[in-house]
Amino acid sequence: MTDAGTTRRIFIGGEWVESESSAVQEIFNPATGEVIARAPRGSESDVQRAVEAARRAFDSGWGDSTPKERSEALLRLAALVEEHSEELARIESQNVGKPITTTISEEMPPTVDALRFFAAGARCLEGKATMEYLQGFTSMIRREPVGVVGSIAPWNYPLQMAVWKLGPALAAGNTVVLKPSEWTPLSALRFAELAAEVLPPGVLNVITGDGDPVGAGIVRHPGVGMVSLTGDVGTGKEIARAASSTLKKVHLELGGKAPVVVFDDCDLEATVEGIKVGAFFNSGQDCTAATRLLVADRHFDDFVGSLVNAVEGLRVGDPSDPGTEMGPVVSSQQLQRVTGFVERAVAGGGEVLTGGAPMDRAGFWYTPTVVVPPDQRSEIVQREVFGPVITVQRFSDEDAAVAWANDVDYGLAASVWTRDVGRAMRMAKRLKFGTVWVNTHIILVSEMPHGGFKQSGYGKDLSSYSIEEYTQIKHVMVSLD
Ligand code: NAD
Repeated sequence: MTDAGTTRRIFIGGEWVESESSAVQEIFNPATGEVIARAPRGSESDVQRAVEAARRAFDSGWGDSTPKERSEALLRLAALVEEHSEELARIESQNVGKPITTTISEEMPPTVDALRFFAAGARCLEGKATMEYLQGFTSMIRREPVGVVGSIAPWNYPLQMAVWKLGPALAAGNTVVLKPSEWTPLSALRFAELAAEVLPPGVLNVITGDGDPVGAGIVRHPGVGMVSLTGDVGTGKEIARAASSTLKKVHLELGGKAPVVVFDDCDLEATVEGIKVGAFFNSGQDCTAATRLLVADRHFDDFVGSLVNAVEGLRVGDPSDPGTEMGPVVSSQQLQRVTGFVERAVAGGGEVLTGGAPMDRAGFWYTPTVVVPPDQRSEIVQREVFGPVITVQRFSDEDAAVAWANDVDYGLAASVWTRDVGRAMRMAKRLKFGTVWVNTHIILVSEMPHGGFKQSGYGKDLSSYSIEEYTQIKHVMVSLD
């Protein structure tokens, strides 16, 4: 599937071209630590060429295409991705270390569905009624594309996150310069090959390489009208600062630290199972991962005991084995990051209930871990670990649970586990997060928005709201004289 010896090319104006930089990034299989491919570390002049190609494609047709034409192109793209979904799932599994069963059954179907949703959404954009808000003048709304959009994607769901960015951008009539993560560019490159069969040249361009110069170059470029990032909070702040020099529109889907509030009237078995999946899916490398458990005092010991058993039962191993539930983390840097968080928590007085160490095998592996943190203010509670590590804390009443749940800089997602409907509704109102799940965690649907409050960013992915984000509204007023 991959050829570790050959350096890939970048995709500009419908053609595979050499990067103007000679620097190369090695791409690893995190399950083995082996190099599986090489990709160019693109340059700012590559960005320049890609933006020019995207602009030409916008001006020469895509920007004037009808919603129906864009919808049909996205539907054909969805069909192609579906046809190649097993191949794409294998690329993703090999490049990110995800269990193959997960990529085949949990990632590719919603990725295809999102493309179909955006295809439908292209034809359903809405605005205010055209009428005379002032006697003698007709006012109307035009909803127009922004132009060239920069889409900057992370490594944890490389293709799915790219589709969440480029899907609504293309649906709204923009052209795109996509930068995949430097660690995981392979699925985006294969996707670009498929897209070339249905999209006119230059509508989608893909440049591989580092955050700076490629991502930062896209943000700096005056010809890019909007930048959409899924990534770390620090990267989001950097991009917001850099974008201010051209005042381009910014859309930020950033990190999370999801609280999971477990009341003592929950269905214990279903809750443990739901949290196990929500916490350790994709080795916990998920911005909505169920990371901070707040458990009611009265059943804390029973609940945590069952949870630890469930976590110890996770099948961790070779991602290509269909029985595997959890694979490695994505890179040696990520492994060091996770290891450091747990070590510092223990040094600060935290207690490891299970796991708590890297695994002794080739590649980048960490044991599924449950930690009692030193306290609410400790780093492991306040900052995103982004690995297979959860914390458990004991709360006395609902007010205390809400206070701790909201007491982080993040605001992406939260869940509540209870059989009391009134309490579930109260908690849904009181939790300051962009998604609140009740008796479930981590599931998203194309029709509903995904995005953060507070430092988890602004702008929504998925849903019709996301398509609106990639448009700008114009008021046209006509004198009737
Ligand atoms: P990251 O911020 O390190 O990188 C994300 C992308 O930004 C990469 O392509 C990177 O090259 C690029 N980048 C880095 N510096 C840049 C700069 N100065 N200018 C422009 N681009 C730059 O994030 P990551 O480690 O790839 O991904 C993990 C993070 O993503 C986590 O914090 C996670 O919570 C977050 N995430 C959020 C969501 C969401 O929907 N909110 C979804 C998935 C991941």
